[in-house]
Amino acid sequence: MLKTHNCGELREEHIGESVTLAGWVNRRRDQGGLIFIDLRDRWGMTQVVADADGTPDAHAVAEQVRNEYVIQIEGKVRQRPDGTENPELATGAIDVVADTITILSKSKTPPIYINKEDRMDETMRMQYRYLDLRRPSMQNNIILRHRIVKFIRDYLDNRGFVEIETPILFKTTPEGARDFLVPSRLNPGKFYALPQSPQQLKQLLMVAGYERYFQIARCFRDEDLRGDRQPEFTQLDLEMSFVEREDVLQLNEGLVLALVEALVPEKKLLSKPLRRLTYTEAMETYGTDRPDLRYKLEAIDVSDIAGKSAFAPFQQNVADGKPVKVIRAPGMAGQLSGTALRKVTGELETLIRDVGAKGLGYIAMPLDETAEVKGPIGNKFTVEQKLALFERVGAEPGDLLLFTSDTREIVYAVVDKLRRELAERLGLIDPQLLAFCWVIDFPLFIWDDEAQRWDPSQHMFTAPMPEDLELLDSDPGKARGTQYDLVCNGYEIGGGSIRIHDRELQEKIFPLIGQTMEHATEQFGHILEAFEYGVPPHGGIAWGIDRLAMIFAGAPNIREVIAFPKTQTGADIMAHAPSYAEPGQLEELHIDVVADVLEEA
Ligand code: ASP
Repeated sequence: MLKTHNCGELREEHIGESVTLAGWVNRRRDQGGLIFIDLRDRWGMTQVVADADGTPDAHAVAEQVRNEYVIQIEGKVRQRPDGTENPELATGAIDVVADTITILSKSKTPPIYINKEDRMDETMRMQYRYLDLRRPSMQNNIILRHRIVKFIRDYLDNRGFVEIETPILFKTTPEGARDFLVPSRLNPGKFYALPQSPQQLKQLLMVAGYERYFQIARCFRDEDLRGDRQPEFTQLDLEMSFVEREDVLQLNEGLVLALVEALVPEKKLLSKPLRRLTYTEAMETYGTDRPDLRYKLEAIDVSDIAGKSAFAPFQQNVADGKPVKVIRAPGMAGQLSGTALRKVTGELETLIRDVGAKGLGYIAMPLDETAEVKGPIGNKFTVEQKLALFERVGAEPGDLLLFTSDTREIVYAVVDKLRRELAERLGLIDPQLLAFCWVIDFPLFIWDDEAQRWDPSQHMFTAPMPEDLELLDSDPGKARGTQYDLVCNGYEIGGGSIRIHDRELQEKIFPLIGQTMEHATEQFGHILEAFEYGVPPHGGIAWGIDRLAMIFAGAPNIREVIAFPKTQTGADIMAHAPSYAEPGQLEELHIDVVADVLEEA
């Protein structure tokens, strides 16, 4: 080894020892006769001193080194002189007086800061990702991610799970996204699809009798990118045989709690056991099936009161069966003058118009309880109605009551949008809080108006709730699925279900979701066939490792916890991927790239 200790290791107990360290020059301070070098490696930072009088050779080399040079130093650990200790640094009680310094590798001036946590242009960070990844904060993220995966592997291994790899070159496994296709040289005109998830294969592993399977699986979905989405991402994929929904929930909940305790003990859990919400509760109260429960801001139904107010749109909507809901923004009206209030509510209105709202009704509660309320719809309610309303929503002086009324879908979207915005504006988010919850009792299908058919709300292998089986014939829209989602801080962390393990039932689902038996057999014949050979009842889940790591790391997006992520356009701008193929390669693959695509490039 080119070092005896790492740069985060030396303490007072090492004083007097001769050591060899190696790492990167984080910073160098030249004070004439003395040069100080902060030497950095993955484990930390140690101050090295080169003294022109004591060790002139080492000092001469120290004069040449610059930031990010890789050097090796041999020297003696000493107590730092009184008053120069650095309590911020784990090694801050000591420094190492260099006897020799060897330059192992020089560095140009890096194009991005490595020793400062300044906000940096993300394009530069991606282009020089190997330098970006050298920054301690990124190293912490990547190492945390490693710990998460290691912990999961050990936890599941201890509970009888077997990790089994499944192929990357496979056939479509629809999870609702577009497939990535890979042309096959050996089978002209044919394509593999990269797995959107190992869904079918893990079910086949249950047919194969493994009973408890998991995999840290790379999945590929050709979707538009956003902060919590990448074209390739990592799932903890898991499947269990002879289980009911409760068994899968319990196992996964145990893993969540153990992970938090082991890896982010400084964070606070919202509740233990995890809260459970039905899909309907989640939608009605939070407007989304992945609610952020770090703050309340619940939507409260006031249709009965508002429908009787003198405000015609509310009357009309309620008569049409459309709800009126209120979100109470605590203290938001506070001391605001009329103009300031109109400005704030105007901004909120612009925001919700984006999701289809026609306008924003509001009532501002005065701080002085005897004063009149402000807002365009305040005078449309009688005194009794107002009292009933304020009691229903728990209004306090200074609160802003925001009304939304429209179709249920638009109300959901508005509630979701307003909650996220208000939480930010009111500073209601506790960054230390982990608000995990389960969302259960999803509808099995969602109606696709355009295609005039039912779509699976999870995927086509999800079993209906046993008590809702009959609804498949009479009223499929009312049938609930066995799906469950694990949600944390407004992100879907995981989702799964108990599967259909009965060929007949599976065959019944296909026509409902607009699949002909012929097409289904072509795509999933292997599963249907396997289902004829003894299938254990089974169910499972997949977690998004990137999202979990992002939340644990307190990072703003998943790119911060992925070593080499793609940009918004799905590109790797460091290696320039995707790139054009050589004509010879295309020929071998029997592929003609249409001329206008090449011309545009
Ligand atoms: N395959 C599903 C997904 O990737 C998860 C599951 O049902 O286990 O979302």
